Amino acid sequence: MFKSVPIFTPQNVQSVKKIIIAIDGFSSCGKSTLAKALAKALNYGFVDSGAMYRAVTLYLIEHGISIQDIAAIEEALTKIQIRFHAGSMGNRTHLNGRDVEDKIRTMEVSDLVSPVAAIPIVRRAMVQQQQEMGAEKGIVMDGRDIGTVVFPSAELKIFVTADPQVRAQRRFLELQQKGQEVPFEEVRKNLAERDHIDSTRADSPLRQAEDALVLDNTDLNQEQQLQVALDWAKERMEVQVL
Ligand code: C5P
Repeated sequence: MFKSVPIFTPQNVQSVKKIIIAIDGFSSCGKSTLAKALAKALNYGFVDSGAMYRAVTLYLIEHGISIQDIAAIEEALTKIQIRFHAGSMGNRTHLNGRDVEDKIRTMEVSDLVSPVAAIPIVRRAMVQQQQEMGAEKGIVMDGRDIGTVVFPSAELKIFVTADPQVRAQRRFLELQQKGQEVPFEEVRKNLAERDHIDSTRADSPLRQAEDALVLDNTDLNQEQQLQVALDWAKERMEVQVL
């Protein structure tokens, strides 16, 4: 039996195997929030793979590159450097040395990101970087294809779902808190469109890996879903708490 502890420390943990935790699911169902909390509790690295596709999208918008222009996109990919920096303001995405965390969360980027993420050369470039980030294990990564394509042998795969109306409401409130006044209907439509494009694209569509555990968080608060995920993680890490 495992005792439940919020944070593993060298003092209270007897043996720990480093693992990869892949979290996939539809848009705005709390994947990143869960991934961040899990990474913090386990002292693991955290990668928001969606932020990478968003950063590429922002670059294309800022450089006036059409998503039909595959040659220009290929060239752009050689010039794009994406990094994550943890600081007092949380985890921030940097594009070529510039903090773009707020810019990549705007509706302008949200409206274009799924078509960009459906382009095979974009996926190839991002997946390669993601695999490098997870080479040492000890990482929590969230996205759409993490458990199926990026890390098919991840020790723990979680597929997060939530009621679409609840997801739209959460995203709407999140945007409001950031001062972005977007009509609820526009938010709902954006999520539905992204879900459709993400799950029907030819290259690595969003789908639940066969060995993924499903976490429906419609009626769970953040603490409750973290506890469920931590219990799953502990089993796979073969943790023995003293
Ligand atoms: O996670 P987030 O909603 O920020 O992701 C933005 C978009 O990036 C998704 O709608 C999807 O089109 C794309 N994405 C992807 N594969 C991932 C992560 C995100 O295609 N692993």
